[in-house]
Order: sequence, then C-alpha cells, then structure tokens
Amino acid sequence: MSIVVPCFNEEEVLDETTKELTAILDHLVKNRKISPDSQIFFVDDGSRDRTWTLIQHKSEENHFVQGVKLSRNFGHQFALLAGMETAVKISDCIISIDADLQDDVQTIPKMVDKYLDGFDIVYGVRDKRDTDTFFKRNTALAFYRLMNRMGVRLVPNHADFRLMSRRAVEELAHYHEENIFLRGIVPLLGFPSTKVYYNRKERFAGKSKYPFKKMIAFAVEGITSFSVVPIKLVTSLGFSIVAIGVVIAVYTLVVWLMDHTISGWTSLILSIWLVGGMQLIAIGVIGEYVGKIFKETKRRPRYTIETSTLGPAEKQGRGSGNK
Ligand code: UDP
Ligand code: MG
Repeated sequence: MSIVVPCFNEEEVLDETTKELTAILDHLVKNRKISPDSQIFFVDDGSRDRTWTLIQHKSEENHFVQGVKLSRNFGHQFALLAGMETAVKISDCIISIDADLQDDVQTIPKMVDKYLDGFDIVYGVRDKRDTDTFFKRNTALAFYRLMNRMGVRLVPNHADFRLMSRRAVEELAHYHEENIFLRGIVPLLGFPSTKVYYNRKERFAGKSKYPFKKMIAFAVEGITSFSVVPIKLVTSLGFSIVAIGVVIAVYTLVVWLMDHTISGWTSLILSIWLVGGMQLIAIGVIGEYVGKIFKETKRRPRYTIETSTLGPAEKQGRGSGNK
C-alpha cells in the first residue's frame, strides 16, 4: 500500500503527519493487512519553505517515507496525480490524503478493510463539516449543487481522501485530459466502489492553501472540463431573447401605428432585440460544435473492461480513443 500526500508549504505539519501515518502503517503491518514494504509518498508541489528538506530527512530515518519533488507548483490535483502514478508502479492500492490531517487518519484501516473486501475505490466522505468555516461549508455545498445541475456526477462531501486499487489508478492514467479534475473523473472509472464516513477536523497547523481565488478557479475548472451546459445556456438565452423580441416587435409596431413615436425608435428597438437574439443563437450553435471538439480532444477511453472469462483484464485493453 502507498499513501500519497501532496504538500505545498507544509513544513509545520509534516512531523505530525509522518508520525500519525507511520503509526497507522505500523498497526496495519502488525495485523498483516498490508505489506511491510508499504510507503508514505510525499509529493512536494514546488514548496518555497523547508518542506522538501524535511521530506528528505524523513526518508532517511523512516523506512516508510519516500518523496518526489515537482519542479514547480503544479497545483493539488497534479501533485496527487504525480504521486499516484509514481506509487502505482510499486503498490497494489493507493490512498490519497491531504498533508494537514484534516481527514481522519483512523479512517485508513477502514478503507483497507473495504479494499480487502474487494472494492476498487473507497471514497472518504465527510459526515459533518462543523470545523469548516460557515463560508467554506456553504460555498462547498453550492458547488456540489451547481455541479449536479451541470450534469457532473460527484460524490458529495468527498474531497480527495480516497483509496484506489492499482487497476483503478492505471485506468485513471488513460484519461489524458490536460485539465484534470479527479473528483469528477474517478466516479467515471466505474469498478466496485463504496464509501466510508468520517468527521473532518480542523487543520492541524498552518494556513489553508486554498484561498478563495483558488477555490473559484477550482470550481470553474470542474465545470468547464466536464460540462457543456454553459454553452447550451447561451443557445437557450438566444431563443428567449428572440421570443421577447417578437413580443416587443408587436408592441413597437402598435405604438408606431398609433403614431406615438419619434422617428427611428421602432426600427432601432426592433433590430436591437431581434438581431441580438439571433447573434446569441448563432454563438450558441458555434458553441455546440466547439463543445463537440472539446469532448473529442479529451480522448477519454470509451469503455473499460473490468474482467472477462478470456483472462486478466489488463491484457484486453479498453475502447481507447487514445492510441
Ligand atoms: N496543496 C498542493 N498544492 C497546492 C495547494 C495545496 O499540493 O497548490 C496540498 C496541500 O499541501 C494539502 C492539500 O493540497 O496537503 C489540501 O490543501 P489545503 O488543506 O490547504 O486545502 P483545504 O483543506 O483548505 O481545502
Ligand atoms: Mg486542508
């Protein structure tokens, strides 16, 4: 097993995180649930503090600890991906968890049990969010609602604390999209999956690395890399404007016939509404095609075979558009 921990300027929490994760791994090894070769994989996401030095020291004194350092700050999602794709080469299952211990490490043994029961993906789901600020809780809720409206299937209240089997991670690697939004993609993988619940805690130390600006960027990323609903909104807006335009056309013509207008008003109002609406429709139509291109460029696997009577699934490939 590998535990992947993305770290961005986390020097304050690394000691405690390592201690707690080591205790969990020791315990699991003792119970013969996981191999003694299991690892904690720290991914330094271009930190500007002593994070990497600390990781190096820890890897010397603690046989569980390994580290990879990214060349610059790539962001949480890419740091996770880098860690998982590195770890998958040497592990059967991979758990991802934040460095700040907000996700309860005691959930890890439960996840491992589920894995041993045969689940490929185990989502850690927050039971309560008491410790998050009012603001964070509500913006997060609004985000899940919005995503749902846009047709993106997310596991509510699940962040990036999850266990994935090797074949699930290997399949994930076949999603070649540039803008990776793991919470949206993982449910698309399929495979037997389940949830475990836990209470989210306060950040152990240090400040959140997700200020409001990054949160908005994250939400926009999530929506635009999964959904073409915004494009469809433009088209329907266009149709509505044309519909309103027709009503206004009738009104302006009546007023004009009754001679209550100054010259030029009727033609101006008519053209503003009708032409405006038609332009929006036109943009929407172009958008539909751009949306198609957008989907094609992702080259996502068209299907994934989980298993068959022919032999191991790995050998049989997938409906890859990605050759
Ligand atoms: N993180 C990262 N790169 C970034 C931002 C954050 O690797 O650019 C890591 C960070 O070190 C932490 C995790 O992502 O382990 C989640 O960040 P944080 O706890 O600050 O987010 P929050 O819990 O406030 O949403
Ligand atoms: Mg956090």
